[in-house]
Amino acid sequence: MSSRRTGRHRCVAVTPDDALAKDDLTRREYRALVQQRPGHVPEHRTSPRRRRREHLRRRRRQHLLGRVAPTLATAALVLGTGTVVASQQTGLAAGSAEAALPSAQVVSSGSGGQPARVAVAAPDPRAQGASRSQARPALAVVAAVAADVTAARSELHAGVRAHAAVAATTASTAAATSETLDGARWRESFHPPITDASVTSDYGPRWGRMHQGIDFGAQTGHPLHAVADAVVTTAGYNSGLGYHVRLTLTDGTVVSYGHLSRVLVERGQRVDAGDIVGRVGSSGLSTGAHLHLEVWQDGEPVDPRPWLVERGLL
Ligand SMILES: [Zn+2]
Repeated sequence: MSSRRTGRHRCVAVTPDDALAKDDLTRREYRALVQQRPGHVPEHRTSPRRRRREHLRRRRRQHLLGRVAPTLATAALVLGTGTVVASQQTGLAAGSAEAALPSAQVVSSGSGGQPARVAVAAPDPRAQGASRSQARPALAVVAAVAADVTAARSELHAGVRAHAAVAATTASTAAATSETLDGARWRESFHPPITDASVTSDYGPRWGRMHQGIDFGAQTGHPLHAVADAVVTTAGYNSGLGYHVRLTLTDGTVVSYGHLSRVLVERGQRVDAGDIVGRVGSSGLSTGAHLHLEVWQDGEPVDPRPWLVERGLL
């Protein structure tokens, strides 16, 4: 600290720290220091009434700020908690908030459908610089922004709903695609029991009794294939089916081939889809060379046609 005498004035060059060094100052130096503070009103120019008025004015200013600050803080919270104001949606031009509300800042103006982000910071209620004239346009902007936020929110909610619908559609499409792929892969795991042969007799009642299988007309010796990966559970002869083969599939389904001329597998043998298990014949109760194919599920014969069609085998 330095001081020098210039005529009748005593000029004191001060730094903020000097204010604390009151004890080191003379009464006159201290008064000079105080008089240099911003907003200082010389004591001799104030009356007790005037000082009281000044005091009340300061109180009102602080009270107003106390009410404005939470409002601004709420706006900041509303905007800050992820509410994005799309400039196109709200008509809130980038920079307008900045111009009207010094504490608002357009973080990004938004383009190509991207929303704009507006951050609003609540002013320090203790700040002495703010005044009513600044607070009023700020409140107007807050009200406008709040209205815009409401509009933007409803639009965003609609957008979110639309997005959810799209996501659901995408998911269901993906599931359907996956199902289709799985279905295709599943069907690829099967092989037709006989190729180049047509159905000559379907499953159902025939000649007064139940025909429990489906017949394919083919020449003797025509190869017969395992319809899927399976275990040979029967490979033998009986009077009705003649030479026949029964395959038990992994899902428990039993597929039976009857009236064979030759059996080419043994009981207990594992076979892969497409392996040749025997050859077409007319053994057993048969009037001509054909394959009699049965499909059994849960111990009961079922119509082989839909079973074969479902697997792309017919
Ligand atoms: Zn038959």
